[in-house]
Amino acid sequence: MHCFFHSEDCQAAGSGEDNSSMIICSGRPAAAFTSFVFLDRDGILNVDRSDHVKHWSEFQFYPDALEALRRLRRRKIEVILVSNQSALNRGLTQWNDFLDIHRNMLQRIRAEGGDLLAAFYCPHRPDEACDCRKPRPGMLRAAADLYGVPLHATTMMGDKVTVGH
Ligand SMILES: [Mg+2]
Ligand SMILES: [Zn+2]
Repeated sequence: MHCFFHSEDCQAAGSGEDNSSMIICSGRPAAAFTSFVFLDRDGILNVDRSDHVKHWSEFQFYPDALEALRRLRRRKIEVILVSNQSALNRGLTQWNDFLDIHRNMLQRIRAEGGDLLAAFYCPHRPDEACDCRKPRPGMLRAAADLYGVPLHATTMMGDKVTVGH
């Protein structure tokens, strides 16, 4: 499993033409805190859509999500986003729109006093049978490797028990 590794604001991103790999957007090179929580994006931070969140104009934060992220930061808990985004490999959203959503989301989170340590995205469709699409553990394992996340002691908050987008 090869990983893109993006810079602070994803500007060092690859072309996006090769969506064969898990996508990692790192907010910071190392964790500042020793406690972590994994959060899903769609359905947890923002309202999910049955037709996928394809553009920033379709991204709508839940009213209490930004406050929750601010509180986590105040309590010195690192937040790692872990999100299935098959809209990429379904061809429903374009690479630039995907990155635009990430950048705008992070900017808004930070403006409200929260932060993300990193965001991990799986671009694959279910039929690609990758290792990273939740509920498979590829993204959690990558986060554990990069940041020393103790998986046994870390909570994952998602809105679906099995498979999301
Ligand atoms: Mg979800
Ligand atoms: Zn994947």
